[in-house]
Order: sequence, then structure tokens, then C-alpha cells
Amino acid sequence: MKIAIMGAMREEIDPILAALGEYTSEEHAGNVFYSAQYAGHELVIAYSKIGKVFSAITASVMIERFGAQALLFSGVAGGIGKELKIGDLIMASALCQHDVDITAFGHPYGFIPEGSVMIETDSDLRSLAAEIAVDMGVELYEGIIATGDQFVASSERKAWIEKTFNADALEMEGASVACVCHNFSIPFFVLRAISDTADGEAGIDFDAFLQSSAQVSAKFILEMVKRIGD
Ligand code: SAH
Repeated sequence: MKIAIMGAMREEIDPILAALGEYTSEEHAGNVFYSAQYAGHELVIAYSKIGKVFSAITASVMIERFGAQALLFSGVAGGIGKELKIGDLIMASALCQHDVDITAFGHPYGFIPEGSVMIETDSDLRSLAAEIAVDMGVELYEGIIATGDQFVASSERKAWIEKTFNADALEMEGASVACVCHNFSIPFFVLRAISDTADGEAGIDFDAFLQSSAQVSAKFILEMVKRIGD
């Protein structure tokens, strides 16, 4: 199977490339796409750059040009739920865009006509992840991840996102990748390790924990690749 592994920032895919050791690379549409063989699968790996627009481009290219049949996102996020501590893993059950607002026309926050507020991730990939978490002895949270083109470092904004979308974590790429995969009918999975708690300290925590949290997520994603298709 051809599997895409995506991150937003270089730090999010570096641990994956390091584990693979050997790969080839190709530049296209402003990204570098790395190809490798791993655990009986063909992989295409890239970081998109930050935000919904860049991540949508990268996911589309992975599917249309590189023929990805499933997409796994690995990265870091701001935690909302009180139980989520820095370094914890959360997989998205569904994703939404917290910064979409056409409420002036009577639509709910996050809604775009002919779309839906929430896009669900693939349930088979989620079940596989839950099994792997048990086998690895790590705690894997599951919940709604809210995406927007904002680094959230405010308790007020975070509380609004929690209240409006019942979200457990927030970041800047998941829902756009979900939108692409949903429209191409490609199964997808979004995993994030918490780098900060999206409050006043978020910028400081993010810088301190980006690398370690990105590694936690990448390690788990590689286990998933090993077990896909078992
Ligand atoms: N320090 C970086 C910017 C990081 S933006 C620079 O200067 O280039 C934050 C990245 O991590 C995004 O890719 C986003 O998906 C994720 N993220 C982690 N914590 C977040 C938060 N509190 N709010 C929004 N995105 C967050």
C-alpha cells in the first residue's frame, strides 16, 4: 500500500526520515517529497509548512501526484482538555475549522455550505491505533481536534473553541488535511502529541517541547505503518 506521512514542520517529519535511513526526494509545488520503502509499504513523506492552505496543497499532491492510498498526519498540538499534559498523544475522532465564520448568514461556526462542521477520521485506522497504544503501553486520547490559522496562546480563545466545538486539542493543519482526504475518499488519521496548552505560556512551552513531542508522535506513526494491512 502507498501511505502518505505528513507533518507541518520539518521537526515533525525529521524523526521519521531518521528512522527510515534511506529515501529519495523530489521537489514539487514548493515542497520536498521523500519516498521510501518501509515494512512492506511504499511511503511518501513531506512537511507542508504551517497552516490550512499549505497543508491542503501538500495533502492534495500526495494523493494526486504520488498516489497515496492512505494518509497519516504526525505532529504537535495545543491541549485543551485538562487531562492532556505535554507529551500526551491524542488522535482525532473528527476535525473542524474553528476560524470559519459565516454565522452572519445563520450558519453555525465552522460550517461551509455543501460541507460539514466536523469531518471524521477513518475508524479502522483509529481502531488499529487503539490496539497499538495498548501493545506499546502508552496512553492514547481520542477527541475532536479544532484547526485554524492561528497559534492560540490565550485562555479565552481556547475556552471559546472548547465550548463551541467540544474540542480537546487545537492546531493549524488537521482539518484542512481532513477536508482534502474526505473529498478524495482517502482514509486518513491525525495524531498529535501535546506541545503546549494553548494559554498564555503556549509560545514558551511550544519552543521547549516541539522536538520531544514531535518525536513521540512520529514513533507512534511508524508503529502504525508496520501494522497497517496485518
Ligand atoms: N514557532 C513556529 C510557529 C509554530 S506554529 C515558527 O516560528 O515558525 C504552531 C505549529 O504547531 C502549527 O503547525 C500547529 O499545527 C501546531 N500547534 C501547536 N500548538 C499550537 C497552538 N497552541 N495553537 C495552534 N497551533 C499549535
